Amino acid sequence: MKVNILTTKKSKLSAVDLSNLGFCKYYSDHMFIANYEGGEWKDFRITPFEDMKLSPACTTLHYGQTIFEGLKAYKNADNEILIFRAQKNAQRFNKSADRMCMPSLPEDIFINSINELLKVDIDWVPKEKDSSLYIRPFMFAQDPYIGIKPAEKYIFMIICGMAGGYYSEPVNVKIETKYTRAVSGGVGYAKTAANYAAALYPAVISQGEGYHQLIWTDGIKHEYVEESGTMNLFFVIDGKLLTPPLGDTVLDGVTRDSVISLCESLGINLEIRKISVKEIISSIEDGSLTEAFGTGTAATIAPIKMIGYKLKKYKIPEVPNSLALKILDKLNDIKYGLGEDIFNWVHKLM
Ligand SMILES: *Cc1c(COP(=O)(O)O)cnc(C)c1O
Repeated sequence: MKVNILTTKKSKLSAVDLSNLGFCKYYSDHMFIANYEGGEWKDFRITPFEDMKLSPACTTLHYGQTIFEGLKAYKNADNEILIFRAQKNAQRFNKSADRMCMPSLPEDIFINSINELLKVDIDWVPKEKDSSLYIRPFMFAQDPYIGIKPAEKYIFMIICGMAGGYYSEPVNVKIETKYTRAVSGGVGYAKTAANYAAALYPAVISQGEGYHQLIWTDGIKHEYVEESGTMNLFFVIDGKLLTPPLGDTVLDGVTRDSVISLCESLGINLEIRKISVKEIISSIEDGSLTEAFGTGTAATIAPIKMIGYKLKKYKIPEVPNSLALKILDKLNDIKYGLGEDIFNWVHKLM
């Protein structure tokens, strides 16, 4: 794979406030681009991060044929760059592409593209505690065509933004009983724009009610929980860790998958099964529900401190030595190269 590289004349790195990285407040100096035309991927290149030119008729702007991924690179104590589970993201990218009638991108191209971009922007992987470089690969239809059909031309790009090391403050979430994120047969399992656009309206309503996020329930009867915002969901009930099964309405999170594998290796009792709203509420009431948290690449683990359901607010008490923190520590050890990578999840940038 030949990559043409045009580097920037003026790096923006010196303008970064390393003590306040936030999340993707600072984009790295460069971006990766490839074009899909005539049935093949071509013109692999790295250029300065800049605005792009698109036709106003670009089909993505009208019909949303677009997908994305999110993963992170970390700096270890020897200043080496470690990238977490990129292959899993490559596979999911192609699952999303398939659902949206978009061309697949070979896994090795996906991973090499990230590697090549990170080599150019290597200084953008921060070293502050718990910080990382968030990597955002995405693909969108390029055809200047008003009409609904799969496009013929696509663009694949990668941009990167710094992510600060923040502890996710426990959040308030509302169990959604009116709006729906995903229904069986839909696109809920794909990381495609439509899912996020459709979620904005109910999310904004819940924010007006004092919640940070929603807990999505099944689209038929709103009886079973599925995800929380853009994170997968876990509960500890009677000392057992529970998470809903995947199916086609739940996004197959890399963090979720990592938590499941870790639990198996740590001997933590875990069950993957449908969890009803009724079970959650009654378990909070009788005290058997001791933890609830979301998992995703951005925050890794976000503990939940309150669940709202039908105008009632149910507090989840903070427990010492939570399973959530234990798992978070183990995961971070692997990501930052502090603990043994028993699952071979991390690859080093060479
Ligand atoms: C990205 C995403 C997740 C989390 O996936 P990770 O691979 O763990 O980052 C969960 N749910 C939705 C809807 C998502 O878009």
